[in-house]
Amino acid sequence: MTKNETPYDRLSTRLREIGTLSAIEALLGWDQETMMPPKAGSFRAEELSLVSRLLHDRRTDPALGELLGECEGDPAIAGDACRAADLRELRRDYGRATRIPSDLVAELSETSSRAMQAWKNARQENDFSSFLPWLEKQISLNRDKAECLGAPEGGEPYDALLEEYEPGMTASEAAALFDPLREALSSFLSEIAESPVRHDPGFVEAKVPVEAQQEFNLQVAKRLGYDLEAGRLDVSVHPFTEGLGPGDTRITTRYREDRPADALASTMHETGHALYEQGLPKDRLPGHPLSQAASMGIHESQSRLWENQVGRSRPFWEWALPLAREILGAPVESYSVDDVYRSVNAVIPKLIRVESDEATYNLHIMLRFDLELAMFRGDLSPRDLPAAWNDRMKRDLGLRVPDDRRGCLQDIHWSVGAFGYFPTYTLGNLYAAQMWEAARREILDLDRRIACGEFGSLLEWLRAGVHAHGRRYPAGELGRRITGAEPGYEPLLRYLEGKLRPIYRL
Ligand code: ZN
Repeated sequence: MTKNETPYDRLSTRLREIGTLSAIEALLGWDQETMMPPKAGSFRAEELSLVSRLLHDRRTDPALGELLGECEGDPAIAGDACRAADLRELRRDYGRATRIPSDLVAELSETSSRAMQAWKNARQENDFSSFLPWLEKQISLNRDKAECLGAPEGGEPYDALLEEYEPGMTASEAAALFDPLREALSSFLSEIAESPVRHDPGFVEAKVPVEAQQEFNLQVAKRLGYDLEAGRLDVSVHPFTEGLGPGDTRITTRYREDRPADALASTMHETGHALYEQGLPKDRLPGHPLSQAASMGIHESQSRLWENQVGRSRPFWEWALPLAREILGAPVESYSVDDVYRSVNAVIPKLIRVESDEATYNLHIMLRFDLELAMFRGDLSPRDLPAAWNDRMKRDLGLRVPDDRRGCLQDIHWSVGAFGYFPTYTLGNLYAAQMWEAARREILDLDRRIACGEFGSLLEWLRAGVHAHGRRYPAGELGRRITGAEPGYEPLLRYLEGKLRPIYRL
């Protein structure tokens, strides 16, 4: 310890180490999903488990708690809004990390890896009964976890889990946003279903060699503002973004020769996540909450905004189609901007969430949120999950579920105990629609800029309003600051109807 070091300096040194260790953990995870040879799997698990143990020890170190206490007692820090916000978030993280006993942490992690294996087999064999005991165990362990964490005043156990992904949001607040959205979307979808307009899949199903798609995707990501000197685009089974640290934010996508629009959507989605990571002040505050994302919902708003509001707009295709023709060549030559615009905005209810369009996607999410909440409240027995799932698919999307593989076994989340994660997808869509309305008000000629391939003004607007703040403001407040409005479902509905009514001539 040098003489002039303040408690806040010492805290920063510890946070930098925690941040570095967690970047190492993320790098091991990135490599596992992209490059690692198959036989390295079991040693990788050992490496990951060691790093995660070291991280847990550091995050729960009583010395860290003491330092926090010292900083909290320092009037100079209390008077500095940034540092005070930083301490508020650190206290929250430290509290959450230390309230769960280490044997429960170990049991949760062991159960998750075994339950995920059981889920994979159950999904492949279409055998819900073999997954059921694991689902029951995950719910019971996560109830214990919620009890240790403690629900907010007047809240319920599920809130303590949701808090992990969307700080400050409760189940009843989420339901109040979702219920009217579900009703409005369901009735809008039945209008679309009755429209005589049917669109040729066209561009969505054009056959384009993967190498050409790779080049096209890379060019688009770069043009949106993704810094490839501080990142890279690779292939993985499930696309993801990994913000590894200062100067290193990597994304992945996946390609199919007959689905070029899906690859582009997933690249633009991950690019949106990556632009957020690259815009966080990680250099300045390594390991500090102020250099981390505000919430999963805010993170998802950044990916959705670039994927949907930008990537499925007509101005975007005015710029992108000539580039697509140049790089993808003959397979896309015959399409007009209008053809592509209609094709990437087709509304077709599907059984699988990740294959769903913008309008039906949120119905998938709200169904999962309601069912997991019902299981946590004890209103739905996990045994009855398949029947409840199938009922809701019929009611909300008008689809008959032929088997559990394409029903309640399709997602990984519950197998790894990620209860409270699903709602953040729809929250992300709500935030994105709200930000989009505000951006259109505040950025002159946004459509024309996008049609020229000029995305910098939108990115700068997001950088200043969202990225630069890290976790300084809770998600809801961040949304209010940038849009001037409370979170609501109306902007998303206005956006979807504004686009889809003309397309379906409603
Ligand atoms: Zn995402």
